[in-house]
Amino acid sequence: MNKKIFLSSPHMSEEGYEMEYIQEAFRTNWIAPLGTNVNEFEKELAAMVGATSAAALNNGTAAIHMALKAAGAGEGDIVFCQTFTFSASANPIKYLHAIPVFIDSDYETWNMSSTALQKAFDQYKALGKMPKAVIVVHLYGLSADMDKIMELCKQNGVTVIEDAAESLGTLYKGKHTGTFGDYGVYSFNGNKIITTSGGGMLVAKDPERIDKVKFWSTQARDQARHYQHSELGYNYRLSNVLAGIGRGQLKVLSKRIEKKKEIFTFYQTAFSDLPQITMMPVNAWNEPNYWLSCITLQGNVKPIDLLLALEKEEIEARPLWKPMHLQPYYKDCDFVGEGVAEDLYHKGLCLPSDTKMTKDDLRRVAQIVIDVCKGK
Ligand SMILES: *Cc1c(COP(=O)(O)O)cnc(C)c1O
Repeated sequence: MNKKIFLSSPHMSEEGYEMEYIQEAFRTNWIAPLGTNVNEFEKELAAMVGATSAAALNNGTAAIHMALKAAGAGEGDIVFCQTFTFSASANPIKYLHAIPVFIDSDYETWNMSSTALQKAFDQYKALGKMPKAVIVVHLYGLSADMDKIMELCKQNGVTVIEDAAESLGTLYKGKHTGTFGDYGVYSFNGNKIITTSGGGMLVAKDPERIDKVKFWSTQARDQARHYQHSELGYNYRLSNVLAGIGRGQLKVLSKRIEKKKEIFTFYQTAFSDLPQITMMPVNAWNEPNYWLSCITLQGNVKPIDLLLALEKEEIEARPLWKPMHLQPYYKDCDFVGEGVAEDLYHKGLCLPSDTKMTKDDLRRVAQIVIDVCKGK
């Protein structure tokens, strides 16, 4: 029986940092609700990415929800959202009864196409329905072309929310993804580059907006001894125990990125002679965190062939995200673009990118991919 190889599984520090912070929480009985670990995790992450303020929340989806609410999105408002993404980027638009309009990607970045975004602005301006916000995603740890996206959004006076759930540590022109827009969202879900088992972080340019998010996320209790509520509340904060895991994980983020990059480089070299395989695009201005190593296929090999061959050997791979405008739930939503996201979805595959993989594990994966491509 072969050893199972995962796509991307939790990887706690060898040094045991996470456990030290958890023990500290137990020792001081700050098990719940908030406490030192939450406050420090917020400060440490904000300092690391260069954000002014941060709110630790119970997952990335909640962070997107709060960002949209802070941006003022509500019933009937238009929100532009990258179509090529995981459903959690878009679902909070529906939580707020706003209306998503899906925007295509481009081949250069795999993320939001500035051409499609421009077109969407033109179309919706003509209708007199400008969007409340634009949600741009940095998929697989690649960054969107933020200069172009920001310029268009500034011209149109629209709030930018960066879904950086997959891109903690990714740099665009030397600056962290998640810090260009008005709001940035990170996720610490189990398969992300660092994890708290479940968790999220919202960063924002305006610290007052973060204070407001913290208020909403703790049930929106007014300043009063009796339980008084003037606004709708949520129970969205991260627990102090889990924030301890996050603090420990932050210490090894750069190590994880290094290993993820090694994995990508290994595949790149191993597949350099195969005309069927193209690695995901890494632009000169982009320093990715290489969360997942993704490829597109052309010619005789289909993603499903590789997926099944790997699965037979206990190796986990998965298709690229199925675009939101093709999801049954979102079938009635407007889409602006050319079918790039759809094409990537049909051609692409995420290869195992688990930071616990050894060189032998990588060789095993690569050999299977090579054999399938050579028709063996
Ligand atoms: C994981 C992910 C999210 C959601 O984060 P959770 O912490 O799982 O709620 C949002 N957007 C993208 C692109 C993701 O990959």
